[in-house]
Amino acid sequence: MAEPHAHLDKALTAEQVPNPGGDLMGAIDAWMTAASAGLFTPEDIANRATDALELLLANGATAVRTHVNVGAGAEALRAVREARSRMDGLLDVQIVALTSNPITGPEGRENRRALAVALEVGVDLIGGCPHLDPDGTTLMSDAFAAASDAGIGLDLHVDEVLDPEVLYLRELARMVTDGGFAHPVTASHCVTLGLQSPEVQAAVSRQVADAGVNVVTLPQTNLFLQGRNHPTATPRGLTAM
Ligand SMILES: [Zn+2]
Repeated sequence: MAEPHAHLDKALTAEQVPNPGGDLMGAIDAWMTAASAGLFTPEDIANRATDALELLLANGATAVRTHVNVGAGAEALRAVREARSRMDGLLDVQIVALTSNPITGPEGRENRRALAVALEVGVDLIGGCPHLDPDGTTLMSDAFAAASDAGIGLDLHVDEVLDPEVLYLRELARMVTDGGFAHPVTASHCVTLGLQSPEVQAAVSRQVADAGVNVVTLPQTNLFLQGRNHPTATPRGLTAM
C-alpha cells in the first residue's frame, strides 16, 4: 500500500499547533508561526517523522511520498531525510520540496534560493502551490524548468481552494503536453475540478489523462479544510471522481 501525500515534517503536531478556524490558511499560518518561533528542533522533526513512518508501516504502507517545507531553510528536509534513513529497507520514501510563496517575482528571491538549497541537499521531486502565488503560471513553468535541470519530477498542490475561477490543473496539463516534460508529474488536491460543469470536468480530465498527469485526491484533508464558511450545503472540497 502507498501513502501518496504525507507531510512528515508536520506529522503528529495537531495538538501542538492548533488551527482554531480549521481551514487551510489557518493551518498554514499556525504552522508558519510555530516554526518561526522555533517550536520544532531538527531532532524533534526527525523523531516525529520516524514515528509517523512506523505508524504507516504498521498499517501496511510500504511506499510513502512526503512533502516537506523548504522555504524556511533545509533543516526540516535534513530531518526527514534522517527519518527516511532510519527506516531504510522497510519503507520507500520519496521527498517533495514544498516551496513557500511567493516564489515568483522580486519578492520570491529568498524562496527561490531556498529551493536551490533543497535541491543541493537532495529531494526526489519539486512541489509548490500555484494557487497561493501571485503568479501561479510562472510558478509552474519555473518548477518545470528547475525539475528538468535536476532530472526529477513534479508534485504540486493544485487548486486547493473553492474558487471555480481557479483551474491551474488545465494549464499544468497543457504545459506537460506542449513542453514534453520527461519526468512524472502529479497534481495533488485538484479541488476546483470538482466545482466545474460536467463538460469542463470531462474536457480537463481528458487533457490531464492525455498528458499523463497523476491526480491525488485528499478526502481526509479537504473534507476537513474546505467549506468552513459554508455551514450549510457545504461543498465537499474534492476533485471530480
Ligand atoms: Zn499537502
